[in-house]
Amino acid sequence: MIVVEGFSKAYDDRLAVSALGFTVRPGEIVGLVGPNGAGKTTTLRSIAGILRPTAGKLSVAGHDVVENPVAAKAALALVPDDPPLFQSLTIWEHLELTAQIYQLRDWESRGEELLERFHLADRRDTLADELSRGMRQKTAVCSAFLHEPKALMLDEPLTGLDPRAIRNLYSAIRDAAAGGAAVLLSSHLLGQIENLCTGFVILREGRLNAAGTPDEIRSGLPALGENASLEEIFFQVTEGTAETDAATAAAE
Ligand code: ATP
Repeated sequence: MIVVEGFSKAYDDRLAVSALGFTVRPGEIVGLVGPNGAGKTTTLRSIAGILRPTAGKLSVAGHDVVENPVAAKAALALVPDDPPLFQSLTIWEHLELTAQIYQLRDWESRGEELLERFHLADRRDTLADELSRGMRQKTAVCSAFLHEPKALMLDEPLTGLDPRAIRNLYSAIRDAAAGGAAVLLSSHLLGQIENLCTGFVILREGRLNAAGTPDEIRSGLPALGENASLEEIFFQVTEGTAETDAATAAAE
């Protein structure tokens, strides 16, 4: 699982994320949402051990990301926004590299299944440099799924994917969660992730403004009807003034 406690991150002396706390349990798919600059990427990159937290505690599968980074990183995968690939490696060589890094055995059939699932099988020997934006994204997704991480994080994963690829990604994410992975993904496409995610963490200016299932968040927002969409919740939470009961409860 992913545990974030009292997490703050400053760039120079400017706080990007402040006293953030939430948990993603095995089997949960949590959507990290918020306006531009709210701190989503900073949070994901910090959990992945790329950025060092200014304060607080981040752990993945029971391993503290700062104190035990190798064990934490072995348990997680992050698909970044616009993933950097190795220009001179083919799609299949990216999977081989991933398998070597994570010391996987007998991974080839899973690798082939993933390439089939994401319609990359006929491009397996194409260099990354010659792939389209969406194909690069799918290559990074296949690499992330290859080692069956306990914590799977995806930063704006829908950007650049065609509708079929989005469907395939959803089913792969659901399968990973059903297999016990904790999934955390950021997106601005609220209508697209509303039915995928089991819960949401809504940030505004680096602070937690609401967290929980849509029903839990709605119950803290009496101004909204019980059928309010995620988008309506988002605007109320990020542009309204009141913090919700759910945010208060999640922060405790
Ligand atoms: P978006 O939806 O636009 O992708 P985000 O929610 O992912 O935004 P972050 O990228 O985490 O937001 O940025 C949060 C804050 O941190 C912003 O004010 C941003 O300017 C600042 N920030 C991010 N990266 C850096 C950096 N490397 N150096 C300085 N400030 C940064």
